[in-house]
Amino acid sequence: MGFGTAGRNRGGDDKAAHRGNPARFLEREVQAACAATRQDAGGPAIPDESLVHNYVVEAGLSSRLPKGIRIWDETLRDGEQTPGVTFSPEEKLEIARLLDEIGIPIIDVGIPVVSKEEARAVKTLANAGLDATVLAASRIVRRDIDACIDCGVDEIALFIASSDLHLRYKLRMSRDQVLDAAVRETEYASAHGLRVSFVTEDTFRSDLGFVARLYRACIDAGAIRAVVCDTVGVMTPSAVSWFVGQLRPRLGAVELSFHGHNDFGLAVANTLAACEAGVLVPHATVNGLGERAGNASLEELVMALDTLYGYETGIEPSRLYELSRLVERLSGVPVGVSKPIVGYNAFSHESGIHADGIVKHAATYEPIQPERIGRTRQFIFGKHTGTAAVEEKLRGHEIQATKSQVERLVHLIKDFAESKSKDEQQTFVEQYRYREERRRGVSDEEFWVLARKAGIPVAEGSR
Ligand code: MN
Repeated sequence: MGFGTAGRNRGGDDKAAHRGNPARFLEREVQAACAATRQDAGGPAIPDESLVHNYVVEAGLSSRLPKGIRIWDETLRDGEQTPGVTFSPEEKLEIARLLDEIGIPIIDVGIPVVSKEEARAVKTLANAGLDATVLAASRIVRRDIDACIDCGVDEIALFIASSDLHLRYKLRMSRDQVLDAAVRETEYASAHGLRVSFVTEDTFRSDLGFVARLYRACIDAGAIRAVVCDTVGVMTPSAVSWFVGQLRPRLGAVELSFHGHNDFGLAVANTLAACEAGVLVPHATVNGLGERAGNASLEELVMALDTLYGYETGIEPSRLYELSRLVERLSGVPVGVSKPIVGYNAFSHESGIHADGIVKHAATYEPIQPERIGRTRQFIFGKHTGTAAVEEKLRGHEIQATKSQVERLVHLIKDFAESKSKDEQQTFVEQYRYREERRRGVSDEEFWVLARKAGIPVAEGSR
């Protein structure tokens, strides 16, 4: 599971071999790449591993990770709470099956009390025979819990806010009222055979002493796991380390779980920090879907653990791109162009210097190779193109060209790219924004039609 191991640039025809056994495929690729590199350079044989340092491992940070980390997927719950996103029960099943096949061990499938269709989805997934633990979410409210019991899930995530801000303005409850309700409903759910994960919303803006007291009481009432949530994404990695370090000794041996949001772009970094601090069950969503700026992205978390930490996640990375594309299609939320791992540009190269490096050894400018997650590399031809990528493309098509022909082609490409009108790209950006406005949820026009249908007196001409 090396950091710098890499294959030489390959075409798509190796895909079949790759599907058979990804680990062996990569190994063969690396060996071939080493042999080729040594031949090209004519220098001494240096194993690839010793050509790059990985300070995550060398500095001992990877050894801080606890054994047995299990990812808790939130795509079907928090991910579905992305503005404008709905999944039908059948769509949830399709996503859950793929999550299950790649080895995700815990799947939060939704909140049954939300709607009849949602309850049908939760019931369907609970009975789908998945290897993964199927979990449903519930407020500290009796009818929510009963809905979960009716669906036949293995586990329940019981959540209530713990910050004084949420208590005063949202729940209008005192700390003692929250504590009493939490204990009562944890006992109720446990008594009905559900394994309870107790979740405090807005944990990281709460009084640490109160949070610890609340968890202790719920653990005593039967909760098996404590889920800390950076609900509005305000933590930093070192702050997470500090907080978890403070909380852990106060909770004893209970399993800790972390739910991170990406409001400041730190969700995955914070999640890794949480794991380094001893959290066993990190939350993530495919494509980083979720409220506002989203949750920690599953594919980024898996690949960071796998590649940067050299950690055995038990998750098969070769289908991560397939998973991302499935969720992109079913959610209707396009993956950002520069999104790590699964974005369009994540394995595209244009600049001459980079393409030259990639052609000589893929690891020069790629920390992981696209084949690992079921993708292929792309060379983009444009203003920054150099001869290496052009030669590589011609070679791939078994076309002979002289050095001066290649140079002439490079010039033509640069001139053409620089003179190309931006009209099409700009129209695309405008259309994307326009369509995004209209795609999300119910449109303004539809809202007023439905309001009239509900019997609300909305004047015809006024809207
Ligand atoms: Mn959330």
